[in-house]
Amino acid sequence: MKRAENKVVIVTGGALGIGRESCLLLAKEGAKVAVTDVLNKEGMELTQEINKSGGVAKFWHLDVTDEKEVEKVCGEVVREFGKLDALVNNAGIGGVDKPTHELTEKEWDAVMNVNVKGVFFCTKHAIPYIQKSGSGSIVNLSSIYGLVGAGDIPHYHASKGAVRLMSKNDALIYAKDNIRVNSVHPGFIWTPLVEALIKKDPEQRKKLDSLHPLGHIGEAIDIAYGILYLVSDESKFVTGSELVIDGGYTCK
Ligand code: NAP
Repeated sequence: MKRAENKVVIVTGGALGIGRESCLLLAKEGAKVAVTDVLNKEGMELTQEINKSGGVAKFWHLDVTDEKEVEKVCGEVVREFGKLDALVNNAGIGGVDKPTHELTEKEWDAVMNVNVKGVFFCTKHAIPYIQKSGSGSIVNLSSIYGLVGAGDIPHYHASKGAVRLMSKNDALIYAKDNIRVNSVHPGFIWTPLVEALIKKDPEQRKKLDSLHPLGHIGEAIDIAYGILYLVSDESKFVTGSELVIDGGYTCK
């Protein structure tokens, strides 16, 4: 039996980076994957790739900041695949890097809307369907920036700290329904989000590598394996936990 056999999973921000790698791995391990993102072309191409290689996936356009769209897509996924077992709240943005006293309300809200309100909307509308399935898993992408301060992007830190505690509290609320809620805390991972940061300063790659005791930043597959574990029944006694996958970044 495959590790996520017959599970129906929604992945937000699934077209690129960690989300993309997670969709590929979940499908390879037998899940029916609802790939959702604001990027239609990349999302459609990914589902074609999965379906061609024998997996099952369908793409939905989904902006996690739009509650009406979240509600609609959750309903459509269940109509398409018959049920919902898991949600991976992966969509996230980095935001501009400014000190707190220079940040505008608009810049603050943009990050909070995707990284925090998006997790709230998706969890809110996925939960009733997962409850009907009798058990399930919600995996929330936090960050090392949700555990320790790095002295930069204040609103991103605030958003990922919020996701960490939302996960623990939802773990308590939904334990009675056998729905597990956990957070994942990646170190720096080579994805378009980090690539964009590095383009501005090529020396940055070396600096980022050196922050991780293992000597380099991670790959999206390193996080995808953690997400697969938390979605699968292998983690059936794991809830409210913080899965840190960071090459040792937070050891110090
Ligand atoms: P990524 O490469 O930028 O991919 C994220 C995807 O989400 C993109 O396709 C992005 O589209 C999409 N997205 C952005 N806003 C959205 C919205 N409102 N609704 C739906 N989708 C939206 O990011 P990643 O590096 O894979 O990161 C995935 C998650 O891991 C994020 O929550 C991030 O904070 C977290 N994380 C990443 C790292 C890292 O080093 N990469 C470290 C710690 C935590 P656009 O490209 O159009 O924005």
